[in-house]
Amino acid sequence: MQQILERSVVYVKGVGPKRAELFEKVGVSTVYDLLQYCPRDYIDLSAPCEIKNAQGEDPLVIRARVVKKMPPARIRKGLTVCKAVFTDDTDDITVTLYNQEYLFASLKEGEDYILYGKVAGNMVRREMNSPMVFSAASPDLILPVYPLTEGLSQNIIRKAVRGALDLVLGEVEDIMPQYVRDSCRMCSLACAWENIHFPKSLYGAHEARRRLIFDELLIHSLAIAYQRQNEDSDSNYIMQAQPLEEFTSALPFTLTKTQLRSLNDCTVAMRGAHRMNRLIQGDVGCGKTVVAAGAAWFAYKNGYQSCVMAPTEILAAQHYKTFKSLLEPLGVRVALLTGSLTPKNKRVLKEQIAAGEFDVIVGTHALFSESTHFSDLALVITDEQHRFGVEQRAALSAKGRNPHRLVMSATPIPRTLALILYGDLDISVINELPAGRKPISTYAVTGKMRERAFGFVKKQLEMGRQGYVVCPMIDESESDLNDVTSYSQKLAQGAFADYKVGLLHGRMSAAEKEEVMNGFKRGEIDLLVATTVVEVGVDVPNAAVMVIENADRFGLSQLHQLRGRVGRGEWESFCILITDNTSPECVQRMKIISRTSDGFKIAEEDLKLRGPGDFFGTHQHGLPAFKLADLTRDMQLLQTAQQMSKSIIESDPQLKRADHRIMRELTQRLMQRGAEMT
Ligand code: ADP
Ligand code: MG
Repeated sequence: MQQILERSVVYVKGVGPKRAELFEKVGVSTVYDLLQYCPRDYIDLSAPCEIKNAQGEDPLVIRARVVKKMPPARIRKGLTVCKAVFTDDTDDITVTLYNQEYLFASLKEGEDYILYGKVAGNMVRREMNSPMVFSAASPDLILPVYPLTEGLSQNIIRKAVRGALDLVLGEVEDIMPQYVRDSCRMCSLACAWENIHFPKSLYGAHEARRRLIFDELLIHSLAIAYQRQNEDSDSNYIMQAQPLEEFTSALPFTLTKTQLRSLNDCTVAMRGAHRMNRLIQGDVGCGKTVVAAGAAWFAYKNGYQSCVMAPTEILAAQHYKTFKSLLEPLGVRVALLTGSLTPKNKRVLKEQIAAGEFDVIVGTHALFSESTHFSDLALVITDEQHRFGVEQRAALSAKGRNPHRLVMSATPIPRTLALILYGDLDISVINELPAGRKPISTYAVTGKMRERAFGFVKKQLEMGRQGYVVCPMIDESESDLNDVTSYSQKLAQGAFADYKVGLLHGRMSAAEKEEVMNGFKRGEIDLLVATTVVEVGVDVPNAAVMVIENADRFGLSQLHQLRGRVGRGEWESFCILITDNTSPECVQRMKIISRTSDGFKIAEEDLKLRGPGDFFGTHQHGLPAFKLADLTRDMQLLQTAQQMSKSIIESDPQLKRADHRIMRELTQRLMQRGAEMT
């Protein structure tokens, strides 16, 4: 980056140490930061409204000439009121200025001005209090509006930005080479900076913003493409083909076409010269686990170990059972490594793992962090990877000698986002449910219908089914806990007195959770009151009905995940959403979830309605924080940036070309900040 951009803002005319401190508060410390400090909005002074039509709550632009200035009135010490009447020949308006004698004095009768402010008064007598006043001869007809902090006014920022622009325009090199700009139809950086701050039209401002957002997305995408290109992707575990029927014929069911294809994707990849880095994406209940088990079996047949990481102990235990039942008959030795083991057992188990006495090791991430060693780990399987922090992912990848990676995700994110979350990986999609699955009938009702809903649940229990009641726990606090506990007691003593009601929440110890979950699986519990700990992966085919309380507090994708806990067996299944929130947005969301059973569509809607942060329903979603880009709005740009960065890296893997120099510097800087990178 050019030196001048790295200078402190103090270097800019009109910015002293005091102002520099204020700028620091809004995150601006260098000339570059100042240029990148984008307006949050613009006022378009070029399209005035006629005074006769001027009304309403929003500030308006009026172009009018001064008809008459009243003498200033000193109301009291420190308050001077000046009034002037303006006209635009459609009507008059009285403008009042408080303590602005200097501005008032500069107004000339008969001359045109542009006023910006809220119009008050009535149809007979229109008024404007303390509007912004500009000379109609002023060339800046589009006015930027910056986010402020105390002590920094719009004017101060505008002047400082002007100063910075005058300093750098003509001096700085564009970070993006001409050919990139041409192919993505982007304006030059100089043009973008001029137009984001002092646009001649709103279109100009829009194009400028587009370019600056693109810069941010391009550098980010370049970093991902660069890593992919330059990391060690040679496979240390080139595997041999195996008779897959040995695995498939031992299954209690036939794999669906897309399951088979996904499994095939994995085995082909593991036989190749490059390390596999693959995401299996598929809606809840589509059967991803079996595919992962097939991949682990394939590694086993080649004489290697696999590990399976789950985000929670419950899921680890469940995966353990699944993998064990699928693979043990085939001779695979499966171990479960969890935090609830006694220290001694843990040590013994770890020794056995290191000695190669197990082929598949299932556990939670905590277990793979420190002292776990493998004898020959060739495949790392993770479940719902976005629930792991970036560091944990890195730690796991460091195990073994660059093992193959397989990620299972039921969050059907678009590929553009997957790239950002997981880096550049290949994706297999399972887009069909196993034969015989019935869709889950979903209904949204208000609290008034609760009794009827419970009546319906009871009928299901009478028929031998089991059910869930899910309550959101906002922060897993004591009071939340009390709410859920007393709620479940109420159910156990009231509506469901004849049934066995269990309670499951995140504050319980792993052993307690396990006990409840197992009780539910064995059918000893009829109705399970639970917080979102049941959200991912828990598999009880006999559960056919779910009630979700305060359904409006969940994201759509999260609701979809939750409801995926039912409808996993042969029974017709139901999900009842209870919410008293009748806002249009909530009604719309409930409609979507009731009518759509396709997780991909739901995710798209969710993304539109709530943005990617909320979309994952967790702060640990792993998405980087962009300064200008907004992934809900700028998906298209992200896609362009990803395609561009791919072709840049293909043509110049190390970014060594002269015209790529600044891009390389910025990319490296981003990678050093590291935390955002996978
Ligand atoms: P998810 O994709 O949500 O992880 P699972 O792998 O947990 O789905 O599978 C859901 C249920 O469907 C499990 O009980 C599993 O045994 C069953 N299943 C998986 N594949 C098939 C299939 N091809 N035919 C019938 N049942 C299947
Ligand atoms: Mg699963």
